[in-house]
Amino acid sequence: MSRFLNENLKGLKEYTPGEQPQDKKYIKLNTNESPYPPSKEVVEAVNENEVKDLRLYCDPECSKLKSALAKLYNVKTENVFLSNGSDDILNFSFLAFGQNGVAFADITYGFYSVFADLYSLEKEIIPLNDDFTLNKQAFMNKNKLTVIANPNAPTGITLSLNEIEKIVESNKQNVVLIDEAYVDFGGESAISLTEKYDNLLCVGTFSKSRSMAGARLGFAIANKEIIADLEKIKYSTNPYNINRLTQVAGLAAVKSNNYFMENCKKIIKTREYTAKTLKELNFEVLDSKSNFLFAKHKSLGGKEFYLSLKEKGVLVRHFETERIKDFVRITIGSFEEMQVFLDKTKEILGE
Ligand code: PMP
Repeated sequence: MSRFLNENLKGLKEYTPGEQPQDKKYIKLNTNESPYPPSKEVVEAVNENEVKDLRLYCDPECSKLKSALAKLYNVKTENVFLSNGSDDILNFSFLAFGQNGVAFADITYGFYSVFADLYSLEKEIIPLNDDFTLNKQAFMNKNKLTVIANPNAPTGITLSLNEIEKIVESNKQNVVLIDEAYVDFGGESAISLTEKYDNLLCVGTFSKSRSMAGARLGFAIANKEIIADLEKIKYSTNPYNINRLTQVAGLAAVKSNNYFMENCKKIIKTREYTAKTLKELNFEVLDSKSNFLFAKHKSLGGKEFYLSLKEKGVLVRHFETERIKDFVRITIGSFEEMQVFLDKTKEILGE
């Protein structure tokens, strides 16, 4: 830390991203990436001509991509916001809507707490129930920015659309942000409610179900006033925050949406197989509707399991947080990758 850093930032504890090792090849089941490449349409869209056009600034409005997404989700372009990954949208939302504080679960996406601290927002941290489900009642009538990942991370547990609607309905005085990063793996999106509720902000990403984590593309769907607020922040920080190549790739991805949704079905099938096998091996596995499983062994500790797997070339994610330290989060890879993961797990357990 230099002596020049703003006093307000000196105590900030930054987010720790999952490992992205560059030295050795692992079976990478630690950052919820897709095992499948983007569609061939995406690969073809990022062509030589587009690369040559990198000399030009990109379209700050992302008009083609915005229209395509609006069509896909059956909303108007004025209801769509695009940014550099959904982390960027979360960042903007905390800045824009957090002035009365922010409420979120104790076990959820770790970045919420970091953004709250970045902007010195008051945090109300609501414990999940003992079974890791969300305490819905505690999310009612908050009068402050209310943030829910649905499905939640790292648990994978979902709320139904009906449950989300009740929470949104009871929070008319504030924005309810539903982070739908994993919704395509079996959850119910709340996008259809954005027409009815002007306080609902749905945030999505191309990083998981659309295999484009490295392209950095996130989107939000909400009432046009909320979208205008987010645009105000984007235009006050970095209007060109989605580069040309990502814009063409994103457009091609929307046009080939079926390919990605088929991949999600494969991932769901592999998830169910993996969960069943882990249960047979004495793991407690939470009911996940995402592209990962959150699992805890009856006797093997979370850290020990993570380290033993790493030694055998398989990376999963372990969190030191007290309440979940016995768990690991396992991203669902290809069927073959999960078979290797399960074989290594059996070796570790001595089975
Ligand atoms: N929300 C949740 C719940 C996540 O797990 C992630 C991925 N780390 C993100 C948002 C951010 O994803 P991205 O910035 O790649 O869109």
